Amino acid sequence: MSATIGVLALQGDVREHLDALSACGVRAVPVRRERELHAVDGLVLPGGESTTMSKLLDVFEMYEPVRTAIRDGLPAYGSCAGMILLASQILDTRPDATHLDALDITVRRNAFGRQVESFEADLEFTGVADDDDPLRAVFIRAPWVESVGPDVQVLATMPEGPAAGRIVAVRHDDVLATSFHPEVTGDLRVHQYFVDIVTGRRTREGRAS
Ligand code: GLN
Repeated sequence: MSATIGVLALQGDVREHLDALSACGVRAVPVRRERELHAVDGLVLPGGESTTMSKLLDVFEMYEPVRTAIRDGLPAYGSCAGMILLASQILDTRPDATHLDALDITVRRNAFGRQVESFEADLEFTGVADDDDPLRAVFIRAPWVESVGPDVQVLATMPEGPAAGRIVAVRHDDVLATSFHPEVTGDLRVHQYFVDIVTGRRTREGRAS
């Protein structure tokens, strides 16, 4: 039977992630409640607005269940605001915003500057996309990863421009995060990468086993 992957459906671009996951051949379901969380093999935290999502995690009494589930090994993938929620430390956020502390990274919100609300870039992405066939990445008021803990694998960095070298995709064990939005491009490679993590086909080094 194929895996079931949930998308945290409190706010943000839930539908786009559900569609991308379905196109990868897994069962994709929205998750709003604890019982729905316990029925999935992996969880996507979508893009949107991280401080709003953090409030809704509290309102829906989902903060502790999601944090515990990921700590106990539930694979998770956060894109953009989802990356911010997974981080252990956030720069330029609101003091009352909570986060899940699931990935040993420091992220800076809206890091690319307010004047650059949104842009696209071609990225190399370890195990997913190389120079010959780069990944078109869409950034929307995106964070970047300011620093990573010793066990965190950097999967992609900005290739050029003022932010050259900034980290935009990371993984630690079965927790994955990207600054950008693969769910809006129709390129399924990042979602497939996460599906492979969930189904155990993708080892820590980013190779298919
Ligand atoms: N800037 C947003 C935040 O801080 C994230 C933007 C996004 O998810 N597209 O939550």
